Amino acid sequence: AAMVKETIRVYARLKPPGRRQQAGIYSVDDNEKSLSSLEIIVPRDLADGFVNNKRESYKFKFQKIFDQEAKQDVVFDSIAKPVAECVLAGYNGTIFAYGQTGSGKTFTITGGAERYSDRGIIPRTLSYIFDQLRKDSSKVYTTHVSYLEIYNECGYDLLDPRHEASRLEDLPKVTIMEDPDQNIHLKNLSLQQATNEEEALNLLFLGDTNRMIAETPMNQASTRSHCIFTIHISSKEPGSATIRRSKLHLVDLAGSERVAKTGVGGHLLTEAKYINLSLHYLEQVIIALAEKNRSHIPYRNSMMTSVLRDSLGGNCMTTMIATLSLDKRNIDESLSTCRFAQRVALIKNEAVLNEEMDPKLMIVQLKKEIQELKDELALVTGKERTSELSQDELLQLDELIETFLEDNDPDSTLDVGADMRKIKYCFVHVKQLMNHSKISDKKLLSQHISEEKDTNKEAGEEELKKLKELLQQRDNEINILVNMLKKEKKKAQDALFQLNAASAGSTVLEQSHSINLEESQSPSSCFSLKEAKDFSSSVHRLPFLSRQTGGKMSLGCQEAFEVFKRDHADSVTIEDNKQLLNQRFTEAKCLGEKLNEVRNKINHLKGEINQRHIQRAALAISSPSEELYMLDPVEEKLRTQIEEEKKRYKTMFNRLKGLKVEIEHLQLLMEKVKVKLQKDFEVWWSEESINLQQENPEMVSSPNTTTVYPRFIKSSQHLSTSSFSETTRVSPNEDPAGKNNSITSNNPTLKTRTPPISSTSIPLTGDSQADADILAFIKARQNILQKKGKSCQ
Ligand code: ADP
Ligand code: MG
Repeated sequence: AAMVKETIRVYARLKPPGRRQQAGIYSVDDNEKSLSSLEIIVPRDLADGFVNNKRESYKFKFQKIFDQEAKQDVVFDSIAKPVAECVLAGYNGTIFAYGQTGSGKTFTITGGAERYSDRGIIPRTLSYIFDQLRKDSSKVYTTHVSYLEIYNECGYDLLDPRHEASRLEDLPKVTIMEDPDQNIHLKNLSLQQATNEEEALNLLFLGDTNRMIAETPMNQASTRSHCIFTIHISSKEPGSATIRRSKLHLVDLAGSERVAKTGVGGHLLTEAKYINLSLHYLEQVIIALAEKNRSHIPYRNSMMTSVLRDSLGGNCMTTMIATLSLDKRNIDESLSTCRFAQRVALIKNEAVLNEEMDPKLMIVQLKKEIQELKDELALVTGKERTSELSQDELLQLDELIETFLEDNDPDSTLDVGADMRKIKYCFVHVKQLMNHSKISDKKLLSQHISEEKDTNKEAGEEELKKLKELLQQRDNEINILVNMLKKEKKKAQDALFQLNAASAGSTVLEQSHSINLEESQSPSSCFSLKEAKDFSSSVHRLPFLSRQTGGKMSLGCQEAFEVFKRDHADSVTIEDNKQLLNQRFTEAKCLGEKLNEVRNKINHLKGEINQRHIQRAALAISSPSEELYMLDPVEEKLRTQIEEEKKRYKTMFNRLKGLKVEIEHLQLLMEKVKVKLQKDFEVWWSEESINLQQENPEMVSSPNTTTVYPRFIKSSQHLSTSSFSETTRVSPNEDPAGKNNSITSNNPTLKTRTPPISSTSIPLTGDSQADADILAFIKARQNILQKKGKSCQ
């Protein structure tokens, strides 16, 4: 099989600096032809201190250095695209990002959560791969994705659809298995089929959301865990028995910072040690690989190095991106990232084309070949060849053998003709004769021969068993392939249908448009039905969220959420994206209408041509002339017009498709921000309720301390109404005059906001959760107001 030997390619990417730019810390020497070099200059005040007081500058070589202005598309084109191409050709590929927390690993691998143009290597690679697959009709492709998170030496499946996770520990645990051939298998890591870009992006989104939900301030999973998103591709030419399989790992490693700098104690320390441990093992593997003549590479020391074994010094095209945040505080971390990168650059990998034979297809092919040969033989001999010899023929043969054996002439031969069946029969017959012979040395000889035949037979049976097992496996795969084909066929039909639909005014887009228009422009302070819909749409997508919130939020909680949302920094992003989405929708709608126009025009032109045909045919009958049999210039002109319109149609249609992808991505981004916002809110809410309990011990929360939301019991009437004088702006829109300045049993505000069942317990003495939450919120809000007041003074 084809093999490519190559060292790991190492790139550097520099993160844009913060507001206070510090010049002169580094310089880049970009060399188009060979490697680029990065010089890090240690400022004097630091050099005197903890780094090194002898040297002032350090130089590192990289394949290429992406400076702070480098945009995501450029990074994708030069780093990821070549790897994706290899993966499409059947080689394994890995791209991993290494650097301290905050240096841009996630930004590079997954992308920023705000702008479409900020999407990172994973979504761009998916887009590229599916584009290429669509273009290549010479092969049948199957694509799957998996998403693994490794935290504290434990693996978690981020994509398992059966689990509704709210904590990392709730996710299915993935373990490593090694088969006798020392291949690594990941038990419990689900492979999800993705037949197109959209499905794959949804899976990425699901995994990222699971990851976000599972992160807590205690585990800080996003900086302390490794994430591996893998695209699995298999391809086969129709009719061929060869299958190519390849994997592309896109890896976002844990932050590379040292424990000493993190400076954490207690529980967090063990975790920090852990991440350092696994990166430490990664470093050991890399040092071992860079050394010549090292036979033992300690892959097995950690889960991550086991999973990435092929990527490091094995069957893989591997690329590393060193992410650097080059300001003064980070000089030592940046230096250590660069040193690590230099060692990685020494590692040689050997990527081989991953091809396998499909025995089932091989059997089909061989059977076909046999039939063809039989036919050919029948044609040559003029006889239909059966596998059995006739009785007559057998008798004839027996005679021939006898004469042959009895003939003492050394030159005598046994000639049965060029018929394999007869030749075989002769051998068997001779063997039998020998077995039955009474002569001892002949007997010994015969034993010897038969033993040999037996072992041959055994080996054959072994082989057969293996082949049968393989066949079973391939059977399953073929079933999958067949299903896939069916799906593809259906999709093709659907696509055709959609094409029609799109040209008829882009119905699909319009649908989602109407949903999203509803959520815009709602008054921010008031909880409107529209927002509720908007909220539930993301809940619908993420079942674990609804479980976390106990099905739905109480009204008090919703109210608090609204306020929280308004003040949250991310709401700007949401607003920006909403506007962008609206723009895109309008554009899409416009395009849809234009497409429709063009289609009508084409139809109209076709009608004209038809008309013209009829006219000329009629003319030819009534007054025949030479001219009528020539090409009609008018028709020619109409045809070129149609061609032009078709071209226009095609470009517009492609643009519409592009818009659709962008819109979908924007929607995913928005939902992501929304989920994050909700999570932030939940954390804030539970913190507030804990604070509240500490301040007012008489307001005891429900004994069930695991619930996120506080449940206050009857003692709530202790609270003097006057102390809430300013907090009754629960709903400023409904009570603009602020007349109902206290919470009483008659408070209309509360009445309208409370579900019918609990309206009887309005004096806040009942155990209605809604009442309790409202009180909790009011108190929490008061706390904030007080804090704000203090900070203003
Ligand atoms: P890491 O994953 O290494 O901890 P992030 O990718 O989360 O770091 O980056 C930290 C912050 O810096 C994020 O807000 C991210 O959007 C921003 N950022 C990182 N790299 C870039 C870049 N090249 N351009 C713009 N913003 C960036
Ligand atoms: Mg990160």
